[in-house]
Amino acid sequence: MLVSGGNRGIGAVIAEQLRDAGHRVAATHRSGEVPQGVLGVQCDVTDTEAVDRAFGEVEEKLGPVEVVVANAGITRDTLLLRMSDEDYEAVLQANLAGAFRLARRAARPMMRKKFGRIIFISSVVGQLGSAGQVNYAASKAGMVGMARSIAREFGSRGITANVVAPGFIETDMTAELPAERVKAYTDQIPLGRLGTARDVAQAVAFLAGDGAGYITGALLPVDGGLGMGH
Ligand code: NDP
Repeated sequence: MLVSGGNRGIGAVIAEQLRDAGHRVAATHRSGEVPQGVLGVQCDVTDTEAVDRAFGEVEEKLGPVEVVVANAGITRDTLLLRMSDEDYEAVLQANLAGAFRLARRAARPMMRKKFGRIIFISSVVGQLGSAGQVNYAASKAGMVGMARSIAREFGSRGITANVVAPGFIETDMTAELPAERVKAYTDQIPLGRLGTARDVAQAVAFLAGDGAGYITGALLPVDGGLGMGH
């Protein structure tokens, strides 16, 4: 299994969760360290050759990648009228094209094995929209069309493609928000709390596991009900 952006945040917890479920897990990192017991491979997902090298290293050390989790992502938030081409392109490159590169590199060996699970980490804002996040929301909504197209192309080869859409998750990013902003967000969430990285990781582990063999093209919200109806 290979998780992109596994050195911190949600990706690190996904890698730990999959490791604890007994899988052989690798994680990409540009900086920092990956969790103990996880194979770390250097990779910037905006670089096709780096993605290819990372897969090659994982295949050599752990065997074929049967599950890929496209988690690496960035934000460059600002209002539409102030958003530069660079802000737009950087986010689309890392989030959507990065996920595309991982899925494309993963697909051929999965076809040979007639088994594969491709899991995209999207966001509730991909469906809800979010002022100041035109680039980010577009990249996250794009993952749904990408996953569903892959689901159709590769269904007959035993490969599934699904999307996990986290809501507001407690991470370094949300820890910096003022208490009143957190309360305003929490008031919108039926379950009345922010999510944890573990909430997301457990959904990913489910989609990666035996129990999800008949699920493909699905959009699984992990948002406490925030995005209900989308
Ligand atoms: P973090 O900012 O904590 O971590 C992002 C990870 O992605 C880091 O490991 C980072 O590596 C990696 N990354 C970023 N750009 C690249 C790149 N070009 N190549 C390789 N790795 C890269 O984010 P979170 O853990 O909060 O989020 C993880 C995913 O979940 C993201 O896709 C995010 O959009 C999504 N999400 C998060 C939510 C939240 O509330 N936190 C809510 C909904 C979705 P490095 O450390 O080297 O920068």
